Amino acid sequence: MKTCAEFEMEIMHAFYDEGEMSEDCKSHLATCESCQQFYETMEVIPREKEEIIIDEWVIQESVRAARFALETRNRRERWIFLIGTLGLMGIGLFFLAAGFGSFMRNLYIAMYLGGPLLLPIIIWKRQKRGREHA
Ligand SMILES: [Zn+2]
Repeated sequence: MKTCAEFEMEIMHAFYDEGEMSEDCKSHLATCESCQQFYETMEVIPREKEEIIIDEWVIQESVRAARFALETRNRRERWIFLIGTLGLMGIGLFFLAAGFGSFMRNLYIAMYLGGPLLLPIIIWKRQKRGREHA
């Protein structure tokens, strides 16, 4: 013979459409006051399936807005990078034209040799700021 706790489990499963109530359980429910009370409390609790209303449109719009914000920022960063690169190139060409050729050569050699040493620091800083760029 099953206990009331076991029948309550069965009643609960049947209530949430996760199984059929056995004949055994049905006849127990018809006679057991404790299980009837349990069943009535189940009726009061709103079913989760009906409770959650997902507005797909709202989610879609939020995703679109987030994506747009990210794209705008990436576009801005690309422009900043392009302008910065052209600016540095301009400065380099200016110094080259002004007769600082050997200084520029030494500067570039120093940058090529020393630059990679800064890479771990740059990566570390980017990771600290956020992962969306990594
Ligand atoms: Zn019972």
